[in-house]
Amino acid sequence: MSQTDEFRALATDEETDSGLKPVPATDAEWRDRLDPKAYDVLRRAGTERPFVGKYVDTDEEGIYRCAACGNQLFASDAKFHSECGWPSFSNALPGAVVFLEDHSHGMFRTEVRCARCQSHLGHIFNDGPREAGGMRYCMNSIALDLEPASK
Ligand SMILES: [Zn+2]
Repeated sequence: MSQTDEFRALATDEETDSGLKPVPATDAEWRDRLDPKAYDVLRRAGTERPFVGKYVDTDEEGIYRCAACGNQLFASDAKFHSECGWPSFSNALPGAVVFLEDHSHGMFRTEVRCARCQSHLGHIFNDGPREAGGMRYCMNSIALDLEPASK
């Protein structure tokens, strides 16, 4: 294990990752923490309008955290420009997200949630770049919080 790997392993640990926030136990606590738009996406599985999210065209390096609880979700090197109007990633960090079948709106889709706080992040589709595994994590910007890489 290199020193960098060791640092990463530590950084994702509950006790040492200062970016983590406690996970609310009740819906009222969630309403207190999140502004109404973020609450609608994260806790009511809403979808923000395409092309308006703050991370759609972002190329900055760093780690995308869950906007609800701070869990580390995506590395910026997994981000790609899909032209679908939402920030897209070819892969999530190991163990960061969970998948749920979603039959809402007359479609069969796979919902992506934060593995730590169960907040809704977006959906996953299989039309991503082939060379990166073929998956497209189609995320809501408002569900993410980019922590820029320290330079
Ligand atoms: Zn979370």
